[in-house]
Amino acid sequence: MFLLDKHRGLPAYVPGDHEEGGGFIRLNTNESPYPPSPGVAAAVEREIGKLNYYNDPDCTALREALARRYGVAPSQVIAANGSDEILYFAFMAFSDGEHPIALPDITYGYYDLFAASLGIPLEKIPLKADFTLDYRDYCGVGKTIVFPNPNAPTGYAIPLEQIAEIARTNPDNVVIIDEAYVDFGAESALSLIGQHENLLIVRTFSKSRSMAGARIGFAMGSEALISDLETIRNSVNLYSVSRMAQAAGVAAIREDDYYMANCRRIIEAREFTTRMLRDQGFEVLDSLGNFVFAKPSAMSAAALKFQLRERGILVRHWDKDRIRDYLRITIGTMQEMQALDAAIEMIFGRA
Ligand code: PMP
Repeated sequence: MFLLDKHRGLPAYVPGDHEEGGGFIRLNTNESPYPPSPGVAAAVEREIGKLNYYNDPDCTALREALARRYGVAPSQVIAANGSDEILYFAFMAFSDGEHPIALPDITYGYYDLFAASLGIPLEKIPLKADFTLDYRDYCGVGKTIVFPNPNAPTGYAIPLEQIAEIARTNPDNVVIIDEAYVDFGAESALSLIGQHENLLIVRTFSKSRSMAGARIGFAMGSEALISDLETIRNSVNLYSVSRMAQAAGVAAIREDDYYMANCRRIIEAREFTTRMLRDQGFEVLDSLGNFVFAKPSAMSAAALKFQLRERGILVRHWDKDRIRDYLRITIGTMQEMQALDAAIEMIFGRA
């Protein structure tokens, strides 16, 4: 009742069903099916006794570890509470009512909500009929640009040269490339940040690094861009990466081989899943993410989502134009994907 009128129309993000326990196979929120590496638990444990002290607001150790891992300077890295917070800071820093954002019509849903809460107008650029993104639609648009590469929920990525061209033709605007899913087979645009001061690469520990619940996101870009984001962070939420999250992040980078090996397992399971779903009559996009976007032929996507839930498997569906015939299915372990195969066979009455 005290909420300002301007906030009354704010849409609410509808997250995937959160079923803690209950024996569900969770293929609905693009989490990793693998737990964090052993060093993470030990590192978090060490922080617990120090919780009476504030965490390092500069995330120094984490930024240094990331800088070494990715071959950039620590001043080119910023960390925050999940990549959602990084994205929010970036929207705040680079856009407002007079500085709109251009983005695909089908993409990560939170961009819409961040923009709505900040009063930022959006120019939604439709993906092609086959869900591919035509980079020429973004060349010279003269607005802040954001999209994931690979895109979600399609899983399609565009090559580096096209990202470079988008950045080159929008020199006065920031181009935000959300690389939440890049470790599953797409090419990172990180190598371009030296040439393009306006290019911001956003990453997360939530997918390939098995730590969605720790809330660690980071971004890399020119020192100028990172310093702009620090200005926002310092005025909004300086301590947003907890002691435990910072320590977990550093430990995970130390054990990066474990995570990269898991990415390879997920890619293998994705190839299996794509073939399996096609055999079951689905139309499946060739995804480079830890998920596939697939259209069943034997029944509606909404009905299949419901039926899978009845059998203990959660998948994601949006009742939204252009995509309501599709399900987004997260790639879990091979065993989980085989369970999905068996469940679909039962549902379609073929078992
Ligand atoms: N970007 C994309 C494309 C996503 O799909 C997600 C989460 N599903 C995020 C960003 C946010 O991830 P997090 O805040 O957990 O880092």
